Amino acid sequence: MPEPTPVLPDVLDQIRALPASGNKLIICDVDEVILHLIRHLEDYLNDRDLMFLQYEYRLTGNIGRAADRGVLSADEVRRHLLAFFDEISHAQDLVDGADRALGALSDTWDIVLLTNLPGSHNKPAREKLLASLGIPFPVVTNSGPKGGAVAALAANRSGPVVFIDDSPTNHSSVQASLPSSVQIQFIADQRFLAAIEPETHIDLLTGDWQETAAYIRSIL
Ligand SMILES: [Mg+2]
Repeated sequence: MPEPTPVLPDVLDQIRALPASGNKLIICDVDEVILHLIRHLEDYLNDRDLMFLQYEYRLTGNIGRAADRGVLSADEVRRHLLAFFDEISHAQDLVDGADRALGALSDTWDIVLLTNLPGSHNKPAREKLLASLGIPFPVVTNSGPKGGAVAALAANRSGPVVFIDDSPTNHSSVQASLPSSVQIQFIADQRFLAAIEPETHIDLLTGDWQETAAYIRSIL
């Protein structure tokens, strides 16, 4: 179990700029939760004769050449991810039902989108795309594990806090920083979803927005 991580100063600035509220809160990731990521990344890789080596939740060590399955270095993976996000941030597909589920939940919950988006210059493209898809909620961009940012977002609220994210690393970080949160591990890609062994701090493992919304509505 990781130690609680502090919130980064520039992330805290974004959080302090949000309207003050004591309402119950949903903190929702974007990639692979609201917008598809894996399917776009797979297309990007295939176009370059690259592939996922396993349907496993890591990128470094898990992207290889299709011809010989030779593993790309951490530096090559980082370079590809930056190029990929520059190419795709304005054009990712909506995960089915995310707009309707979040729209309905926003009647009674505050919703903040917390996203790790490589390249801060991609934030306006992401905000514009989300708004055009009917997802008009505030976007906070983070880097690294999300626990510190989640604890800062939850500060001064008394109601429940729900954290929705695909990444096991982010869920471990949130468990360390805000163990009282309700943790939903949402993975849109069925192959990666099926390969996950959920940890004990995960309250719901799903790839379905109807199930997610019903589960959140059942929280008192
Ligand atoms: Mg994600």
